[in-house]
Amino acid sequence: MPLEELKRYASQVKKLCDKEKYGDAVDLLNALKEEKITKELLESSKIGHVVNALRKGAQTSGHAEIAAQSKSLIKQWKAQMAQNAGGGDNGAPAKVQKTESSSQKREKEKEKTSDSKDDFSLGASIQPTADPVRNKSRELLQKALLVDKDKFSPQFVSLMAAKIEEAIYNFHGNSSSDTKYRNKIRSRYSNLKDAKNPDLRDSVMTGVISPDKLASMKPEEMASKQLQELRKKFTKEAINDHQMAQNEGTQTDMFSCGKCKSKKCTYTQLQTRSADEPMTTFVYCMACGNRWKFC
Ligand SMILES: [Zn+2]
Repeated sequence: MPLEELKRYASQVKKLCDKEKYGDAVDLLNALKEEKITKELLESSKIGHVVNALRKGAQTSGHAEIAAQSKSLIKQWKAQMAQNAGGGDNGAPAKVQKTESSSQKREKEKEKTSDSKDDFSLGASIQPTADPVRNKSRELLQKALLVDKDKFSPQFVSLMAAKIEEAIYNFHGNSSSDTKYRNKIRSRYSNLKDAKNPDLRDSVMTGVISPDKLASMKPEEMASKQLQELRKKFTKEAINDHQMAQNEGTQTDMFSCGKCKSKKCTYTQLQTRSADEPMTTFVYCMACGNRWKFC
């Protein structure tokens, strides 16, 4: 429909509205229903505003039939414009671009959500290596250890995951493509995350079972029953280590001293705040006596 004709329709509808002769609009509405419309035509002719005014006037003055027809006409136009914008074959590039950018935005928002979900489930970012297979392993172990995420700080969990992975990697000849390496990562992962076996996680996280010991443990040793026996043995050994170090805490090479760069440190974890917050890790450098803590 040419713009001029549409403008004439618009002014006729407006006249009926002004005179409140809503009932006489039937023919105009029927004629308009037959026409295809574009966004440009709708905007230039202002027919949309006029028909909407007709709908409101008809509604309040009890011309329900006219109101319904006006409403369905507006709905029809909206559908036509959505189709034009979606199909992009109506020579309206601006609209098409807008559609694309908003769908791209939705994609980005989706990515953002899944990213933040990953961050949440991992607690802290992993301690990366140059090997993507090893990084994946660290991610797995970190997820398993995070079953106790309320007990330990995310940074400490990330550090322990890296230490366990490193121990397994060393145990299997420094090769991440070795099937034995992969199997061991998988078996440690499933045992560590086992909700029915908190003893294993606990023993590893508190240093009773060192990463090296965990790397060499047989599957049956990680199961809850045998673990109890091992815990007794390892606890005794840990106490001996502790006495040799003559310092409070468990000896470790997980940290390096900020002052002297030594890796000979001991650490203890204490619940210094309320029970539902992560523990604080206290580290003591055996080389220079430097102390620090993190949580
Ligand atoms: Zn030091």
